[in-house]
Amino acid sequence: PPDVQALGRSAWTFLHTLSANYPKNPTQEEKSDMKQFLGLFGKLYPCWVCAEDFREWMDRPENKLQVGSGGKGGNWLNSRERFGLWMCMAHNAVNTKLGKAEFDCRKWEERWRTGCGV
Ligand code: FAD
Repeated sequence: PPDVQALGRSAWTFLHTLSANYPKNPTQEEKSDMKQFLGLFGKLYPCWVCAEDFREWMDRPENKLQVGSGGKGGNWLNSRERFGLWMCMAHNAVNTKLGKAEFDCRKWEERWRTGCGV
């Protein structure tokens, strides 16, 4: 890929903005759409090492996105709060891998809120 850094910054801007706009009370369809989207994102992200590690992270039992209730997943798709935290943790996993400081996930919404009044 031409520029892994620029691609990464833009991608994280998109992904965190996506979480900031995720419904507070998502329907089954909204959960399912997000799960599918991230599955495809992880397949198509045009930095192949990045994509592979991201898929591996998403595949861990504790990070798995599940649409239905039950199971022992973290219900990450159940609300904007949960999903925003999940995305922050995903980003922190990459920060750690790259030797960068962890971001304080209590502040993700403050950092990424769009101001669209939602
Ligand atoms: P970025 O990490 O891009 O962060 C941008 C801004 O987001 C920061 O300035 C900060 O304000 C905010 N932020 C930081 N951490 C968090 C957080 N946890 N939650 C919310 N907001 C936060 N690069 C590689 O070299 N190797 C990889 O394997 C790799 N994998 C990646 C996987 C994915 C899915 C993505 C989207 C990117 C990946 N990248 C990878 C790119 C890397 O994460 C950075 O985007 C890139 O190194 C530029 O870093 P940066 O310091 O400019 O800030």
